[in-house]
Amino acid sequence: MATVQSTKKKVPEAWAKLGILSDQDLIHHFPRRYEDRSLWSDPISATEGATVTTRGKIVSSKNNRWRGGRSSFEAVFQPQGMFESITLVWYNMPFFKNYLKEGKELIAHGRIMISGKKRKIMHPEIEVITEDMHCSIHLDRLTPIYPTTTGLSQRVIRSRMHATLSGEDFYVQEMVPLPGNFVSATEAYREIHFPTTPASLESARQRLAFEELFLMQILLAKRRQNVISVHKKRGKKKRDLVEPWLKSLSFQPTNAQSRVFAELDEDLARERPMNRLLQGDVGSGKTLVACHAMLRTLECGMNAALLAPTETLAEQHARNLRKLLEPFDVSVQVWTKNQKPTGAGLFTKNGIIFVGTHALFQAKAVLPSLGLGVIDEQHKFGVLQRRAFLAKGENTDLLVMTATPIPRTLCLTLYGDLDVSVLDEMPPGRKEIKTVLRSAEELSKVWAYIKKEIQKDRQAYVVYPVLEESEKLDLKSVKVAFKEMQGIFGEKEVVMLHGKMDPEEKMLQMAEFRTGRKHVMVATSVIEVGVDVPTATMMVIEHAERFGLAQLHQLRGRVGRSDLQSYCVLVGEPKGEESWKRLKIMEETQDGFRLAEEDLKIRGPGNILGAEQSGLPPLRVANLGRDMLLLSEARKAASELMEREPELENYPALRERLKTYEVFAGHQTAN
Ligand code: ADP
Ligand code: MG
Repeated sequence: MATVQSTKKKVPEAWAKLGILSDQDLIHHFPRRYEDRSLWSDPISATEGATVTTRGKIVSSKNNRWRGGRSSFEAVFQPQGMFESITLVWYNMPFFKNYLKEGKELIAHGRIMISGKKRKIMHPEIEVITEDMHCSIHLDRLTPIYPTTTGLSQRVIRSRMHATLSGEDFYVQEMVPLPGNFVSATEAYREIHFPTTPASLESARQRLAFEELFLMQILLAKRRQNVISVHKKRGKKKRDLVEPWLKSLSFQPTNAQSRVFAELDEDLARERPMNRLLQGDVGSGKTLVACHAMLRTLECGMNAALLAPTETLAEQHARNLRKLLEPFDVSVQVWTKNQKPTGAGLFTKNGIIFVGTHALFQAKAVLPSLGLGVIDEQHKFGVLQRRAFLAKGENTDLLVMTATPIPRTLCLTLYGDLDVSVLDEMPPGRKEIKTVLRSAEELSKVWAYIKKEIQKDRQAYVVYPVLEESEKLDLKSVKVAFKEMQGIFGEKEVVMLHGKMDPEEKMLQMAEFRTGRKHVMVATSVIEVGVDVPTATMMVIEHAERFGLAQLHQLRGRVGRSDLQSYCVLVGEPKGEESWKRLKIMEETQDGFRLAEEDLKIRGPGNILGAEQSGLPPLRVANLGRDMLLLSEARKAASELMEREPELENYPALRERLKTYEVFAGHQTAN
């Protein structure tokens, strides 16, 4: 590969900040988007909300200053070849006055806003045009726009990238066997950075996406091999706990729960450790399944641990388990930052269940005879954290649970190293949660409704997307809302819950609400996971358009947890069709799987899967929403190769690359 001059100098901090320390890193720094700079848009006739890329000159500019030190910088910008102008606006960037001087030529990219007769672009992305800009790199072409950081301009990144890729000795060795007619790696890197045409860009993208997916599939296959090859320590059954426990329940397990009990029993009885993902929509009763499996473990004289992402949730699990297990002399021990197991409870006849947060896998924590680890809301934990947790035992059985449904097709391919169980049935008696979309003007009616519910001793959540007042996005903050709600419902009625509170305060507030002493909880999305208050019947989500579908679904799942009729009110001003579509789907369905499929179509898979947490290679080019076909090809090719050449003798580049990830492979790090 060509060596670029700049790499011989001291690598500037800015490059390092982007993770670019070598030419290899550089060519993997893919464009965030492209601008067609051979064809400028016309911002004067563009419709409201349209995204434009325009070239022109600054005609004049000014700073507006307000009280409190805030300001806005406005530049009048005249697109090339036009008489009319538009205004570019930036908040709190007064120093732009010295930078974007009159006469400066630049490219601006952003959305057109129309207010009155004025056309504006708020916080456009800009690039100043300089005389020494090479047209073949920066202009007159499909131009790459890169993720960047302070101190590195698009121009500098692009120039270095171009120098590297166009070097005569630039060559990338093929790493994986390619079926079909993909372009060569060398060409793919050149084209993804500096595409000749939209079609050649797509070919390059597919080539690189295939490689990423292939690598992922090989890793999954290897992990699976590792799990199969070890033995766990579990002894023979010593006591009966599960059967009497089932008889003691005040309700019947659902058919789905019974089926999953059996699936897990089979895993637990095997020599090799269980490695299973349990998916079940919010409220489907996953805790009962976890309890069943933990009791099985205790029957054999081992202990179990349940890991939860928040203290609130850990507390709640502990409380529920204690209730469920009251007559059975099982010790339920909470282990969080603020609570440690008490020696007294440790030596019960029938074993221990540890319930905790991150504290459970800190170095100091000792979990004696750990036979089963359960991870609730698995996507909230990183792969290293999961590994640290499992390392508390030896070839421990593992059950990971998630309420964020993963579309079936994806699940098979992304979690190929895990067995999967699904709770696809709700406990009986649940009413549908009535979901409606309302605008901010209609809020007073919503508050009036909540007041009526409070009179019936029901409770309400009001959720906001952010904590502090954020000027840029103009969102109401939780703190402001808290005051406001106190005004509406009375000071004694409202509690507040957000992630930045200290844990004791959180517990206190939670208790006030759970016990029904207070009726309204103002919160951020911290309540998204697992909070269970059956008498809460109203969920109001402000700025609903700011949340993803999966998250909205989770939030909605906080109500409708008993036979009381519950409501979910989505308050928002969805901008654009997609935003509308998402909220409409929430009105239409409560099927978590359908919502997940829709979310995948609209947003791509990143957040749904928590893939970044999985320890798998990041998918920088592949998009699981639209590359399903490539994914199945990659899966096929990977399993063929592993079958033929389990040691990958003929693929040194692939072996080399896998070394980066091998550290994550194996049962100890399963998802
Ligand atoms: P999730 O899957 O969201 O974790 P939980 O385990 O918290 O759901 O269960 C939700 C509620 O349903 C709990 O109050 C639990 O006691 C109750 N529940 C679970 N299984 C059943 C069942 N088979 N019949 C009736 N209620 C059940
Ligand atoms: Mg749960």
